[in-house]
Amino acid sequence: AKDEGGNGLCFFDPAMESLVLKHAALAEDLRDALRERQFLLHYQAQVSGGRLSGAEVLVRWQHPDKGLVSPGEFIPLAEETGLIIPLGNWVLETACAQLAAWDDDPLLSSLTISVNVSFQQFRQDDFVDQVLATLRRTRANPERLKLELTESMLASNVDALIERMYALKAKGVGFALDDFGTGYSSLSYLKRLPLDHLKIDQSFVRDVFIDSNDSAIVKTIIALAQSLGLGVIAEGVETEEQRDYLVSVGCHACQGYFFSRPLPVEAFETFVRKFQRT
Ligand code: C2E
Ligand code: CA
Ligand code: CA
Ligand code: CA
Repeated sequence: AKDEGGNGLCFFDPAMESLVLKHAALAEDLRDALRERQFLLHYQAQVSGGRLSGAEVLVRWQHPDKGLVSPGEFIPLAEETGLIIPLGNWVLETACAQLAAWDDDPLLSSLTISVNVSFQQFRQDDFVDQVLATLRRTRANPERLKLELTESMLASNVDALIERMYALKAKGVGFALDDFGTGYSSLSYLKRLPLDHLKIDQSFVRDVFIDSNDSAIVKTIIALAQSLGLGVIAEGVETEEQRDYLVSVGCHACQGYFFSRPLPVEAFETFVRKFQRT
């Protein structure tokens, strides 16, 4: 960190100043957290055709004073400070090691793991090599790894992005476009990307019975996915009614509190065993 000494900054708004200081303190904590391994992964079930098909991994920060901090609070900061690179590598490594560990268990060995990837990670020149090296090192099956990208990644240098996606795709790695419908992805890009799934953003699922615009959007995304030959995953599914509706209009998979919250790995494994038996 640079020595800013405070004199380069002139804040006249004390509330603003305290916010900036808090931000700096949290950024410092984040650096320590990586060193001290304060991060952990939670796994959230994805259900398809009544069966568990996979899990999305969601990172958590076990802060020494603040307790469990949600990624909404520290991912943006990690992105700003560049710490998303080592953090993202750790997430990928841990997720791939988990995939490999599930290989010997018949109830777990067919599950896929979806990993969220930030633009800063994906645009690194060695991103593809990093992922492939991690797969080799952990002996994880690439066919069971899915990467979740967001529409905002399509804002610049799409050709490079597409090339990287194809390189990973050739090894078996799958792709989903996350939070679909909230960004501004051009439909012409969409057909050029080697995607497997679109993920319908939870904001549309939440109000699907309240706002007729949202049910129209959901149906449109499904129709679009079908015409592009992609699967659709709905996220933020909280009720049985939502699940039934989404399945009836053609969603392939659902994820949300209705099935399970994101869980620590042991709890997730217990959930899988119960779920697959019923
Ligand atoms: P996301 O990828 O859209 O993940 C879905 C978020 O919705 C998660 O929040 C999840 O806990 C929450 N969620 C799942 N089911 C429900 C539901 O039924 N109802 C409601 N209200 N919420 C539900 P979380 O875990 O707080 O993560 C927030 C965001 O942080 C993620 O959004 C993702 O963008 C980012 N994130 C999480 N882990 C990672 C990571 O390892 N790397 C990167 N780059 N980003 C991550
Ligand atoms: Ca996601
Ligand atoms: Ca999402
Ligand atoms: Ca989101």
